[in-house]
Amino acid sequence: MDQRNPAPQNVRMTGSALPLIAIDGPSGVGKSTTARRVAERLGWQYLDTGAMYRAAALAILRTGIPLEDRPSLERLLAGLDLTQEGGRMYLASEDVSEAIRSQEVTRMVTPVSADARVREVLVDQQRHIGSRGHWVVDGRDIGTVVFTQACCKVFLTASPEARARRRFLELLAKGQSPNFEEVLADLQRRDTADSTRAVAPLRKAEDAVELDSSDLSLDQVVDWIVARHQAHS
Ligand code: C5P
Repeated sequence: MDQRNPAPQNVRMTGSALPLIAIDGPSGVGKSTTARRVAERLGWQYLDTGAMYRAAALAILRTGIPLEDRPSLERLLAGLDLTQEGGRMYLASEDVSEAIRSQEVTRMVTPVSADARVREVLVDQQRHIGSRGHWVVDGRDIGTVVFTQACCKVFLTASPEARARRRFLELLAKGQSPNFEEVLADLQRRDTADSTRAVAPLRKAEDAVELDSSDLSLDQVVDWIVARHQAHS
């Protein structure tokens, strides 16, 4: 384990009620894969809130509604039917797990997730889902806004270069021909947008523990979070 990261047993207990592990952090840090693996290890459920924002962005793109058209946006949000099951994201009954990863959606999700009304609607849905059972939830504002009473809050970081390298290798493995500089620039664009927006900007909750995963394997990160959780439960 890296010296920069505290040993799990030395971390202060958050002293709260919800059986829910909140994992927040910047783009490309591996939150989703980590959260899914932690949930599997504990036998808990996993909620990917980024996928919900992406599905909302996809719905807005498909209807062509400009975000400025508030009455149309309200109507769309009122009928927004999002579900996650078996690691898949559904918009109404359509499996949109692949569609929400397109470049177009990745661009659109930044303004969509900065919209206060969109956030209000999705945060309500997330709280409703997480209110029953045991959950691992990943996003940008889970520990600071959505589930402030989570029993365990982790702020997962890694240097922009380390995150870009991982994303670059992922894209290569998918048979794409990524350009490292472009991958890095896209991550930095999203970092800036997420951490400077007016509503629910990305930041570490005061009672979250920061884990720098730049030099850690996925297994080490998962082990660390599970150990921290178990040390306090
Ligand atoms: O996690 P992922 O990169 O798939 O999330 C897509 C986008 O949704 C992020 O770039 C971020 O702008 C937004 N997001 C958010 N709040 C969350 C989860 C994601 O604003 N809780």
